[in-house]
Amino acid sequence: MNRCAWDSVIGQEQAVSYLRTAVVRRETSHAYLFVGPPGAGKKTAARAFACAMLCDDDGCGACGTCYRVRMGYHPDVRIVEPEGVNGFLMDEQMRPLIRDINLTPAESSHKVYIIDQADLLGSGSENAANAFLKTLEEPPAYATIVLLAPSYDSVLPTIASRCHIVRFRRIAPSHAEKLVVQRTGARSEDARAALAATGGVLARAVEFLGSASRRDTRGRMLSILKDLPVMDGHDVLVSARELLASVRAPLEELKGAQAEEVEVAADFLRGGSGTALQTRHKRELTSREREAVLEVLGIAESWLRDCLAVSQGVDEAVANADARDAMEEVGTVITPRAALVALKAVSDARRRISYNVNPQLAVEAMLFDIQEVLTCPR
Ligand SMILES: [Zn+2]
Repeated sequence: MNRCAWDSVIGQEQAVSYLRTAVVRRETSHAYLFVGPPGAGKKTAARAFACAMLCDDDGCGACGTCYRVRMGYHPDVRIVEPEGVNGFLMDEQMRPLIRDINLTPAESSHKVYIIDQADLLGSGSENAANAFLKTLEEPPAYATIVLLAPSYDSVLPTIASRCHIVRFRRIAPSHAEKLVVQRTGARSEDARAALAATGGVLARAVEFLGSASRRDTRGRMLSILKDLPVMDGHDVLVSARELLASVRAPLEELKGAQAEEVEVAADFLRGGSGTALQTRHKRELTSREREAVLEVLGIAESWLRDCLAVSQGVDEAVANADARDAMEEVGTVITPRAALVALKAVSDARRRISYNVNPQLAVEAMLFDIQEVLTCPR
């Protein structure tokens, strides 16, 4: 358990100190733009910031409010991600969002909206874009909007200019590994495997090491990769199904919390707002499932990279040292070209998932493609 919500943000002392001071002095602004490279911890910091604003104890990290914000199901904290192929759907996503901002908080004194990939904001109907700008400039007093983007320049100037900028620095991989070891007491090879699984996102690597079910899913993915060359078509389909079941297992807690929220709200929710709640729950589940599937793809990707490294004799820095046996077997036969074809199968799966293809189908297709390379690795 974190001693305080801010503890989840690792290696970003300046940004944390700026935000934390603002909360303690009750001087938070209505709009922020967090900028920094992927993996720097912007989303984690935005969640911690939300905890600090909503919690009675400035983000104690231990109360029910902090817990629900961290798990992603506090009714007064929304994380919004682009749902269209090319970005946000300004009419379908932003209009409901603006309506939602204007509803008073459900149980806290504040509401926090975290808009991920804000660099993709802006296309779509001019009316919706203008309405969003107006809301961003002058949201209701209880609302804070936090936009996340890789850089200041990637965001439309009309949007960026309405926000306070908070910068997140890039953390070198070797330093990231040290920070994870410091935080968790894990062995460095486990820290490296966790960072590889979570795309180098420190906070998620720390969570990963603390989650038996996610480590179990990783083990499953690695053993599928190891056995792929000897599987038949049926085995591959069964493995994909079991893998997805393992990915979905940790989402049961979220489903339970959602069912509880529906029950509590049933008395005062009528028609439209009940549907809105269902839509929000469905979005949260889809987004969490996608995140978990992407983690599994990251594991496959890092294992294939390791095989490539081993085949080239540069195996000091393999990310999955515990799977070395299988990798050495593959490493002796795989060519760099074949490894690249297998890696492309992973990025194809990632793309399909971002286009809302059923995750199971995307994973099945990926496993068949990798199998072809591993059985005939030239
Ligand atoms: Zn708290």
